[in-house]
Amino acid sequence: MVRLTTRRRRTPVAIIIFLLTAWLVSTASAQESIRVVNSTWTAEFRQHITFTAQFEAAAEITEVNLFYRIVGRPAASRNDADFTPGTSVTAEFVLDQTKPENYLPPGTELEYWWKITTADGNQLKTERETILYLDNRYDWQTLENERLTLYWYEGGDSFGQRLFDRANEALDTLETDFGIKLEKPIRIFIYANHGDLLGAISTASQEWTGGQAFPDYGVVVIGISPSQLDWGLDATTHEMTHLVVHQATDNPYGDLPRWLDEGIAVYNENRDQLDEDFRGIFEAAVKQNALMTLRTLSSPFPADPLKANLAYGQSGAVVKFIIDEYGPEAMAKLLDIFAEGALYDEALQEALGVDTDGLDNAFRASLGLPPLPGTADAAAEAPAVPAEDQPAGEAQPGESAAEAGQEPAPAGEPAGTPPTPAPAPPEPAPQTAPLGLPCLAGLLPVLALGMVWYTRQK
Ligand SMILES: [Zn+2]
Repeated sequence: MVRLTTRRRRTPVAIIIFLLTAWLVSTASAQESIRVVNSTWTAEFRQHITFTAQFEAAAEITEVNLFYRIVGRPAASRNDADFTPGTSVTAEFVLDQTKPENYLPPGTELEYWWKITTADGNQLKTERETILYLDNRYDWQTLENERLTLYWYEGGDSFGQRLFDRANEALDTLETDFGIKLEKPIRIFIYANHGDLLGAISTASQEWTGGQAFPDYGVVVIGISPSQLDWGLDATTHEMTHLVVHQATDNPYGDLPRWLDEGIAVYNENRDQLDEDFRGIFEAAVKQNALMTLRTLSSPFPADPLKANLAYGQSGAVVKFIIDEYGPEAMAKLLDIFAEGALYDEALQEALGVDTDGLDNAFRASLGLPPLPGTADAAAEAPAVPAEDQPAGEAQPGESAAEAGQEPAPAGEPAGTPPTPAPAPPEPAPQTAPLGLPCLAGLLPVLALGMVWYTRQK
């Protein structure tokens, strides 16, 4: 009995050792029995990325797969390669870049590898290699440091240098005022005109798109002619800020309130004071007690160009107010909390000690405006101070802003950043925005309309 028991105990161990040895031998022979003769890739931007490789094996090669994934993202794509089965094969996989569903922005980093299977069941997975997919139609100049690479092809050295310096300043501000450090280096591509830009971004983009940010890829693509440098400095800062903020706060549970997302981007354009594009319309709204509510600004911005411009300006002013009154640490804490997917009111309460209405009222008080009707602050201060210079027919503070053209959208946007187009100077502003107003969309036409409106108010 004792011996039998002993045997019983030993038998499984022996089997395991045998199987392990057999597996090791077969793995070694699989690696030896399949050989990579060569492996390469070629690409034409917006046309194709073609992967080609030659393999040899002792047994017939029956299956060849090409895997690729965007660097930094978990999901890999598995694809069947074209080849004729045999013991020596040339395999090819073409990633068709003319199809909108396959679109990859310039500056995409792809990691790829092959998997080869033979008739006798052996398999080989090749080492991973990385591709930097660039727009090879232009002769790019570059400036680079450990945080970002700027690509441009028109405007000369000083044009590129100014954009590069400004982008670095913006990254510094994100660190000092918002506690956000870049997660991975970013690439900014400056196209010299609107036509070139449209030729570089997805065909699914709107005609009036002036730029796009691709947070998952760490890429900003924008159109700036050398004669538009001042506008371009702001636009690049704005789009890049969105990208960095989204990289830092992206989570599966929720997004930033729109006013915070846009407000940080607007604030970063000019930290000292509200950009002049927004200042006039914002100051006029303060004077008329016609600001929008922060709750309204938590959802996608209005499509109406004038209201959108006010929404951007007010959001920038609120972000500056938080930094000035509560401090950069509180702002950094707020973003940290949002990065975990908190609800808007809870995040504000935890970081600043006020909810959305409380923050709104504190902001309004700093401007000499009465609290929002129906809030606790208003009850404490009743009777409310009547609005000064309230013109007939103008939007009232509070809920009326929603009636005045706000899109009834759910608080919270889809995960990730939707492309954030910037203005195409000669194009008209869109009449309807697909999913909230794309950033800076139609800024210049909006600005022109805004000036007309502002002048009329005066
Ligand atoms: Zn924006």
